[in-house]
Amino acid sequence: MQKVIISVKNLVKKYGKLEAVKGISFDVYEGEIFGLLGPNGAGKSTTLEIIETLRDKTSGEVIVDGFNLDKSPNEIKKIIGVQLQTSGYYPNLKLTELIVLFAGLYNEDVDPLKLLDTVNLRDKAKSKFKELSGGQKQRFSIATTLINKPKIIFLDEPTTGLDPQARRNLWDLIREIRERGTTVIITTHYMDEAEILCNRVAIIDSGVIISLKSPDQMIDDLVATGFERPKEVKKANLEDVFIHLTGKHLREE
Ligand code: ADP
Ligand code: MG
Repeated sequence: MQKVIISVKNLVKKYGKLEAVKGISFDVYEGEIFGLLGPNGAGKSTTLEIIETLRDKTSGEVIVDGFNLDKSPNEIKKIIGVQLQTSGYYPNLKLTELIVLFAGLYNEDVDPLKLLDTVNLRDKAKSKFKELSGGQKQRFSIATTLINKPKIIFLDEPTTGLDPQARRNLWDLIREIRERGTTVIITTHYMDEAEILCNRVAIIDSGVIISLKSPDQMIDDLVATGFERPKEVKKANLEDVFIHLTGKHLREE
């Protein structure tokens, strides 16, 4: 039996007249990478931010590692890692200085270089945030979620806008984080990414979960209905060509 670390029941969020989240329920298991997929405006960020205690819900129940969101939001804050908006970073501080600053906010004692090591940024320790490439900024922002040694981290579209190499590099990092026992909740618009990374995904559309299972099971279920891809599938795609020609090494340094 897998342990449920997040339980969401009948979650509703209204923004005025707009019902952005319409009574969704789902569980996240400890140690899995759980994906929230859905078109823009589906309610993914709203759902994540409610669980992260950053946004009020309209109704429903959220339990995180045994703590009820209504009664113990501060207990929840202690065990989760949230990606801060990168616009909130002081652009002129060095990475090590930023980590010390954030660690102070969390009242945590961290070794900045060790933390930068985990996201492969040690050689950028003396760089300013504004001097980083897109992929490096994302890796740094993931590092900041790890400062308080959280049980769960939330990643909202961490790979949007990254080149294929940087995207793969981030997949490796996210898998390493899971391997260390941390539960990961991620949103993405890239289905290949969800298929490769996620143990289970919930597809949400207009505030309603329309499917929740493993990517593999979703694909098998669709195939079982007689679905076939409209055109013959080649043994490689253009992304394979791109990676084959340009290599897997990062180009941002
Ligand atoms: P997603 O992350 O899936 O793209 P969001 O959770 O950001 O979706 O948004 C869901 C819906 O709620 C959208 O229609 C969006 O316009 C609306 N919305 C999000 N935040 C606010 C807000 N602060 N005030 C009013 N409407 C909002
Ligand atoms: Mg969003």
